[in-house]
Amino acid sequence: MLIILLGPPGAGKGTQAESIVKNYGLAYVSTGDILRKAVKEETPLGCKARENMNQGQLVPDNLVVEIVRERLMEPDCFKGALLDGFPRTVDQAVFLDQALPDIGTKIDSVLLIEVEEDELIERLTGRRVCSDCGANYHLKFKPPKVRNVCDQCGGDLYQRDDDTLETVKERLDVYKKQTEPLIKFYQEKGLISEVNGNKDINGVYEQIKSILDNL
Ligand code: ADP
Ligand code: ADP
Ligand code: ZN
Repeated sequence: MLIILLGPPGAGKGTQAESIVKNYGLAYVSTGDILRKAVKEETPLGCKARENMNQGQLVPDNLVVEIVRERLMEPDCFKGALLDGFPRTVDQAVFLDQALPDIGTKIDSVLLIEVEEDELIERLTGRRVCSDCGANYHLKFKPPKVRNVCDQCGGDLYQRDDDTLETVKERLDVYKKQTEPLIKFYQEKGLISEVNGNKDINGVYEQIKSILDNL
């Protein structure tokens, strides 16, 4: 089973992914998380990706495609995977279609989470992330029990470098130009299920659950 989460930055993909992988036993594949780890560890990949990420631009397709190819070959993905943040361009989607027969799976559903732009900006600029386990919080909408401390692991929370207002606006622009064409791409394949992301976190999950339970 392969499920794709599609939607603008801040739509709640990472937040929903936490519940989806737990309840459906899927491996979590987030290109953003993999890239951030590479940047933190200053690996060759991280050094190539850092500047694009900080500017709110996409990392080149050839780098990202390699990451996903390797990640999907890892044993935990054999039981099924949830892709968050990939594909983000039509070229990446074409690569995925070509790679899937080798991996022995196919795309079951593309969950399109849509949210209004003002709300996206508020969600992204208020987002806080655990520096140890990557869990997501929000100053207003999902505050941790103790200020700046992760509920799950006690790690420190930080604000991502690309969650400043200026970079957020750039990322929303990049999404419109480079990622939105994927909606049509997957619509033509009959794979899109629409999710209203403007609801609260539980309200969004309820919609996703009813889609996945009916696959
Ligand atoms: P994405 O992975 O799509 O960029 P996140 O899951 O990181 O988005 O969510 C962005 C921010 O918005 C986080 O701070 C998260 O806690 C918060 N958030 C997620 N879903 C909702 C929701 N339905 N309502 C309000 N805030 C939300
Ligand atoms: P978001 O909250 O915007 O959904 P992600 O954590 O998914 O953020 O991605 C953070 C950054 O990592 C992106 O702005 C981009 O620079 C890079 N990135 C992640 N996934 C991809 C991808 N599939 N293709 C190109 N760049 C990517
Ligand atoms: Zn944590």
